[in-house]
Amino acid sequence: MFAKQIGIDLGTVNVLVYVKGQGLVLQEPSVVAISQVDSRILAVGLDAKEMLGRVPESIEVNRPMKDGVVADYEVTKAMLKHFIKKAGGGWLSRPDVVISTPAGVTSVESRAVEHAAKEAGARNAYLLREPVAAALGAGMPAHTPTGNMVLDIGGGTTEAAVVSLYGIVVSSSVRVGGNKFDEAIAAYIRRKYNLVIGDQTAEQLKIEIGSAIPLDEQISLEIRGRDQVGGLPKTLTVTNKEIAEALVEPLEEVVKVVRNVLERTPPELISDIIDRGIVLTGGGALLRRLDELLTQETGVPCYVAENAQACVAIGAGKALDVYDLIARAAPIS
Ligand code: ADP
Ligand code: MG
Repeated sequence: MFAKQIGIDLGTVNVLVYVKGQGLVLQEPSVVAISQVDSRILAVGLDAKEMLGRVPESIEVNRPMKDGVVADYEVTKAMLKHFIKKAGGGWLSRPDVVISTPAGVTSVESRAVEHAAKEAGARNAYLLREPVAAALGAGMPAHTPTGNMVLDIGGGTTEAAVVSLYGIVVSSSVRVGGNKFDEAIAAYIRRKYNLVIGDQTAEQLKIEIGSAIPLDEQISLEIRGRDQVGGLPKTLTVTNKEIAEALVEPLEEVVKVVRNVLERTPPELISDIIDRGIVLTGGGALLRRLDELLTQETGVPCYVAENAQACVAIGAGKALDVYDLIARAAPIS
């Protein structure tokens, strides 16, 4: 029997698992709940996220990949084990796994992830750089010696990169992503209305009525928060135009990252990029009219990839078949 082939996107906000022949089988928050009494892992993924902000102090709910680093080896291992098992792999049918880690992860941390995956039940574990996974998952010809530019906007980071022959030619990243967008929205509402809102409300505003450029139609959403002055609950209607305004500053950071990479890209590859456009991946790419804003601000056509949020996991899954080629062309040191 052939071993199962699994691609894992170990993201700062979400873990996605792609199984060859089955497609995307799992998408869960990268959250772990740990008992402070005996350090036992109490819940992982969706179950752990439901505990956020709702449990006593004796239980800590944390995001092990939060700032794009592997904060805790044991917690990361427990998380991988949970997801590998849930995807149908275990000691009886040990899968081959390709894992993509966030941009900021160092090579020492990557090795730790590789090791953790083996201890978590993988027969073989390989690492893949995120932009390479994103480009493969978006269906770009990343295996050819041509310029393929991807911009991945996750929860914690945004990374732009030019990929050629499975390797990264130029890249740049910034610790601005969906989470910072949410923070900017919460800060805006607090400044303008003296209303304090939670992270989840800010994210809801972004997803339901947010855009990078104001929309033509006027949409709005009623939200609840706590009045900063009186301390009492208050209801407020927020419009799309306001959210677009709140997002101006963090979006400037995203534009800067793209410009920075374009400026450093060798001329031979620039012409491919202008022809093909820049492909946007990650959950943050789903923000309305972001592709338009980036096209305007960079002068290069930008497109949102199909299945943008799943591209990295899909690319990692696809990479198993060609891992030998990838390791030879662009080894991870
Ligand atoms: P990571 O790779 O860091 O785990 P993801 O690629 O899964 O992150 O993206 C998560 C981010 O995408 C979150 O900040 C979430 O709010 C954002 N997101 C998801 N869907 C949308 C949407 N429709 N519009 C805007 N942002 C979205
Ligand atoms: Mg990601």
